[in-house]
Amino acid sequence: MSLVSRHINTTRLIRTYNASTVLQTLYRHGSCSRTQLAKLTGMSPATITRIIAELMEQGIVLEGKAGKSTGGRRPVYLHIDHTKLYIASLKLLRDDCRAALLDLKGNILSTEKLPWGGQTPQEFLHNTVEILSTIFTQAGINREHILGVGVAVSGICHPKEGRVIRSVNLDWEDVPIAELLGSELQLPIFIENDANACALAEVWLGTARDAVSSMYLKTEEGAGAGIISNKALLNGSRFTTGEIGHVPLIAGGQPCRCGQKGCLEPYVYFGDVQARYAEKTGRKVTRSQFVELIQAQDAAALDLVRESAGALALACTHWGILLDLDVITIGGFWGKLQSEVIDYCQRYYAATARQSGIPCSTTITGSSFNNEDADLLGAAGLVIDRWFAPLSVPFHR
Ligand SMILES: [Zn+2]
Repeated sequence: MSLVSRHINTTRLIRTYNASTVLQTLYRHGSCSRTQLAKLTGMSPATITRIIAELMEQGIVLEGKAGKSTGGRRPVYLHIDHTKLYIASLKLLRDDCRAALLDLKGNILSTEKLPWGGQTPQEFLHNTVEILSTIFTQAGINREHILGVGVAVSGICHPKEGRVIRSVNLDWEDVPIAELLGSELQLPIFIENDANACALAEVWLGTARDAVSSMYLKTEEGAGAGIISNKALLNGSRFTTGEIGHVPLIAGGQPCRCGQKGCLEPYVYFGDVQARYAEKTGRKVTRSQFVELIQAQDAAALDLVRESAGALALACTHWGILLDLDVITIGGFWGKLQSEVIDYCQRYYAATARQSGIPCSTTITGSSFNNEDADLLGAAGLVIDRWFAPLSVPFHR
């Protein structure tokens, strides 16, 4: 069998409903016996045996050590060979474009900055292909083992057409990323808005693994939300679900660059908070200095954190109750401020739900990832989601 036809068969096999369900279960549980897989997936033992044999023949699933016997034959535990499957990811944000190679567990194996500025989108993407190819060569991996390329873009995207509709931050309009990258790389390309991609990263690799419905609030560079409802990403008819950064939330609140007052963005975009701190104290501080000032109980810094925590608590509570969420993840450094931000939001949410007579078991948490990696992992989460979610659209390449 040639490599090409083997790859097509592999792709076809793991895109079948049964095989992808088995892989998804193994991916989430780490390892399972055939009996456990049958119970967890609801498939017959004969079906599981057949699918596992096919997946093992193709090198995707391995047998581990035999477990303890509970009376009958000792069960053999199966697991996905994470070293055989890779994901490439790209983050395209304001002043921060980066490519990475990850394994299926979300470990970043290598990463490279993408030069930005003075290029057309076509030129930029062509250079990106060359950088990705170098990353693949240096890692010594077989391209057949790359599941796909995930792209997290700061802007409004058409995920099905693989196109950026509009990105104010990149100054891009109507850029067919999947077509441009896919024709050169010959790999499946998936694109998503950055907040949506981060929401998927939390589902597959982070805080929302066990949630049915969850939200990722993107902060620091701006404000946006990625929403998972009933295990599926919400995109909306115009692909603008979660574009909440400039919807006024606080009457008479802080002025925003959009011309309105009280949007979430001026409370979480670090540049705005930094400017207000300088206004109060005459000092310009970096992000890490600001965090140190909070830890040192600096009065001006604490005032600003309380103000931002108040805005985040409103956002979490309004949207959390509206969508009946299990988990809300606050990204960026705001999510790392446990007592000042996370605990405050959790208390506010619980008190509001109690007063409204709504049962509440929503968990508010910081992200599992550091902010620099969140979008790269988000882009990887997008590929994992498209590959392993049983109801997702089949590959078009
Ligand atoms: Zn605004």
